Amino acid sequence: MSHEAVPSRRADRERLLTLVQPGTTHVGTGVFARRRLKSGMVLGEIFGQVCDDHPADPSYCMELPSGKVLEPSAPLRFLNHSCDPNCELFYWFDEDDPQVVVEDRLWLQTIRDIEPGGELLIDYCWPADASIRCRCGAANCRGWIVDPDELHLLKDRDPCREETEVAPTRAGDAG
Ligand SMILES: [Zn+2]
Repeated sequence: MSHEAVPSRRADRERLLTLVQPGTTHVGTGVFARRRLKSGMVLGEIFGQVCDDHPADPSYCMELPSGKVLEPSAPLRFLNHSCDPNCELFYWFDEDDPQVVVEDRLWLQTIRDIEPGGELLIDYCWPADASIRCRCGAANCRGWIVDPDELHLLKDRDPCREETEVAPTRAGDAG
C-alpha cells in the first residue's frame, strides 16, 4: 500500500463530502449540493467496488472506461438520472490518442451551476436493452432512461401510454 495514496484519496473524499450530501427525493435517495456549485467544477472521483460479475443491484452500477463495472459507494451511488442533467461522469484519456485510457477511474463534474440544496443529476445513458421508463420530468425527457444514440431502438415501445392517463401532479413545478 502506498503511504501517499491513502491521504490523498481520503482528502478527495472529505472534500466531496463538504460539497454534496444524500437526501430524499420522490424516487428514493438522491445527492444534493451543500453549497453553490459552479458549472465545470470537478466534484471528485467515483469511489466504489470494481466488479467482474454483475452485482445484486445493477441499477447503481457505472461502466468504467475499460468496460469493467463499478459499484459506487455512498453518497455518489445515489446519483439519480435526468434527461436534462446538471452533472456528468468523465475520465481522462491520452490527448494524442483518445482511444487510450490513462486511468481506469471515473470522475464527476458539474456541467451547469447548481444552487445550494439542488439535486445533482446525471444522464445514465443506458443501452436500449437495459432501458426503463423515465420519469425525470425534464421538458426534453426522452421517455426512457437510455443512451440518446439508442433511443431509436425503442421507437416502437410507447412509454407514455399508461403514464399519461394517470399522470400525477408534480408539486412545485409551476413557473
Ligand atoms: Zn427523462
